[in-house]
Amino acid sequence: MKEFKNFINGEFVTTASGKQFENRNPVDNSLIGLVHEAGEPEVAAAVAAAKAAMKGPWGKMSQAERIKLLDRVAARINERFDEFLDAECKDTGKPRSIASHIDIPRGAANFKAFSETLANHPTEAFKLDTPDGQGALNYGHRQPKGVIAVICPWNLPLLLMTWKVGPALACGNTVVVKPSEETPATATLLGEVMNECGVPAGVYNVVHGFGPDSAGAFLTTHPDIDAITFTGETRTGEVIMRAASVGLRNISLECGGKNPGIVFADCDLDKAIEGTMRSAFVNCGQVCLGTERVYVERPIFNEFVQRLKAGVEQLKLGRPEDAGVDFGPLVSQEHKEKVLSYYSLAVEEGANVVIGGGVPEMGPELNEGAWVEPTIWTGLADDARVVTEEIFGPCCHIRPFDTEEEVIALANNTKYGLSATVWTENTSRACRVAESLEVGIAWVNSWFLRDLRTAFGGAKESGIGREGGVHGLEFYTELKNVCIKL
Ligand code: NAD
Repeated sequence: MKEFKNFINGEFVTTASGKQFENRNPVDNSLIGLVHEAGEPEVAAAVAAAKAAMKGPWGKMSQAERIKLLDRVAARINERFDEFLDAECKDTGKPRSIASHIDIPRGAANFKAFSETLANHPTEAFKLDTPDGQGALNYGHRQPKGVIAVICPWNLPLLLMTWKVGPALACGNTVVVKPSEETPATATLLGEVMNECGVPAGVYNVVHGFGPDSAGAFLTTHPDIDAITFTGETRTGEVIMRAASVGLRNISLECGGKNPGIVFADCDLDKAIEGTMRSAFVNCGQVCLGTERVYVERPIFNEFVQRLKAGVEQLKLGRPEDAGVDFGPLVSQEHKEKVLSYYSLAVEEGANVVIGGGVPEMGPELNEGAWVEPTIWTGLADDARVVTEEIFGPCCHIRPFDTEEEVIALANNTKYGLSATVWTENTSRACRVAESLEVGIAWVNSWFLRDLRTAFGGAKESGIGREGGVHGLEFYTELKNVCIKL
């Protein structure tokens, strides 16, 4: 039986309480292994190790040395690519074709992209006039914040974890990571890589467990945590923000969304269909940036609905390793129940089910897995719960619109503000609409096209703060001003 242990101070450790929980493969609900749940003592040990490491060789390393070490980590992930791929696909059930193009290569790239930004970032400097005519020189000096708690979700486990760990370490911090209870594998494997690459003990730590009364809460309330970076649901973000308020610790919150896709009649329809297929259904719809509300200009509404339906009919469901598979199960039985409850609710709220809405017949070997059908609805009211609440499944509601003003108002009619996509060949309109949307990220004629140097984060209830590129520097470092009287 495979075991997933906590990784503390460079060693894999079990838990004093002996508490363990199951890790299951959502493809067929088979048992992958047992996870050692960290209690308060293990979390305290991980935080203490991370704090001590700040004072050890890691704290004395130059930026160039750290960056070299992180380059090695990226290279080692790529050398052990197949193991990471296997671990990620077992935990999530996602097709290998997706994980091998997105999750694992981006997981490795996150250790390089930010290092390059950091190495090339200038510091601010101001010359001040003084009455004696000699003046003074000010310059900014960035220092690591200290011990960063990294709380992760399950939808892109390695990618979203390294997206935070990469910059945190590049800036000289140490981390204690709490992966999602659903996906413990790749964070654990990364512990082996850290040791192989010679990253000093205590720099990267992993504690397994749940949120409340478990590793997540123990970690975020620990007084020696200097800052918390979190990706997950908005309601969890609120709890973490409260925890961070004690001791005035800094937070970065990347939370939920109910993202609109806006399709104008003058768009390149082939591209809009292809992009919306991806934004609604890739990763079984479990992408925070995914589109769950689609607004289509009335003259092309019927054609768009029929073509998206035809696209869904082409999706191939199956095991991650099977050839041609582009659609896997949801992450867990629990999430399947949640998504199916919205499928029932849609019908109760009066939706027209264009396609899907149920559980697919996968055959005796897979029927126990967390499978749901990709689903399209039309005809719901703008205040329907299915149109306003984040489902985080492979589904979208499509609604016609008549004017630019109307669709901007519809798109902004949400408490969320993560991302949006706009499909039009009219560049002036594209910019006008993109700038009017209350979101952190707006794509025009594309989706999930990410440049790691750019700002990433959400408006409204989709988060607080921006990470990515130089923006990560603000969160992962403390900026000190040094003033020298000349
Ligand atoms: P979640 O909020 O349930 O859990 C996220 C993490 O928080 C897990 O590790 C969990 O154990 C931990 N946690 C839960 N309660 C906690 C508590 N009280 N204290 C400390 N830690 C706690 O989210 P999820 O279901 O894992 O992920 C899906 C959600 O994440 C969706 O809402 C999705 O939109 C969002 N998401 C956002 C982004 C983004 O960049 N904005 C990216 C991916 C996912």
